[in-house]
Amino acid sequence: MVSIHSGRWFRFFILMMAAALLLAGCGSQVQETKPIEPKGKVYFTYFDTVSYIYDYSGDSAERFDDRSAETSLLLEEYHRLFDIYHEYAGINNLCTLNKKAGGEALPVDEKLIDFLLYAKEMENLTHGEMNVMLGAVLRLWHECREEASESPSKARIPTEEALYAASAHTSIDLLEIDPEKKTVRISDPEASIDVGALGKGYATEMAARMLEEKGALGYVLNIGGNIRIIGSRPDGTGWKTGIRNPSDPDGAFAMQIYISDTACVSSGVYERFFVAEGKRWHHIIDPDTLYPAATFSALTVITKDSGLADALSTALFCMDYEQSRSLVDSLDGVEVCWFFPDGEQRMTEGFSKLIVKE
Ligand code: ADP
Ligand code: MG
Repeated sequence: MVSIHSGRWFRFFILMMAAALLLAGCGSQVQETKPIEPKGKVYFTYFDTVSYIYDYSGDSAERFDDRSAETSLLLEEYHRLFDIYHEYAGINNLCTLNKKAGGEALPVDEKLIDFLLYAKEMENLTHGEMNVMLGAVLRLWHECREEASESPSKARIPTEEALYAASAHTSIDLLEIDPEKKTVRISDPEASIDVGALGKGYATEMAARMLEEKGALGYVLNIGGNIRIIGSRPDGTGWKTGIRNPSDPDGAFAMQIYISDTACVSSGVYERFFVAEGKRWHHIIDPDTLYPAATFSALTVITKDSGLADALSTALFCMDYEQSRSLVDSLDGVEVCWFFPDGEQRMTEGFSKLIVKE
């Protein structure tokens, strides 16, 4: 695992393993229940990652086909709106907004307005630690990661000067949203939006809510590791989900938890990184230091809303433990497990109750 690409494929492999675990329902407690034969679909085209939809409800194949088709249409819509690398005919998406930064306000789809308002709310809730306007800084790290993947021997990190200069263009106030006129403008030509920390989780939540409105129960969405569970297993038990060990992501899970009717999102140093100057540089950037966040090696957030779980997974990662813990304690229904680089784990009481005891 030395480049982004191998990291991605490794993640895919683990997701497959996790999916296999879910499918097999292996482990002491679940094995005692009647095995449930799920229906499943996998998509490779959204958010540059792998997406799974499983149905454990025993619905007819026709109904599952309809629901998975509607889910994939919705994911595709969000994928296009959130794409920062490509534009699409007939819509103004995040790529368009970035290109036109400093220019006129642009009319955008209502879904994008709602998402960007939510992104502002999350920036505020997380005291700026998850900020979608960090694009100018993230771009510098992204360029280095791409270069390192092309030619590892020439790997470098951004200069302090470049990071500091970019950080002058990251205020959330540079994102101007007019909900009445349904327009958005990035007011600074040097600023740009990057929704890597929030987009997948939010889209997953929107897909889950659509399924819930249609009465779906016993569905599992896994969009690039953003797991959102709709209902519980038909026998009332939770789904067994493995949490990777950041010190040995290829090895056995650090723990397994039972979850139902909730979202589960993890962020970790092992997900995307590159090596330069003999050190590993991962992809979650602390807005205060402008360098990869250093307190934790991973953390897992469990809360009903997958958008909130995704926002928190990144934001909590950028804080020290006390800040991170006090934010979690101030919120209702949020359970977290923190992994430290020395192998220590700390968790909320609610999280410890979810652990599968074999
Ligand atoms: P992943 O997308 O790998 O599941 P995260 O949800 O933690 O992991 O999001 C990481 C991505 O979010 C990065 O690749 C980058 O695009 C963006 N990002 C990194 N640090 C921040 C931050 N502090 N605030 C907002 N976005 C960030
Ligand atoms: Mg996140």
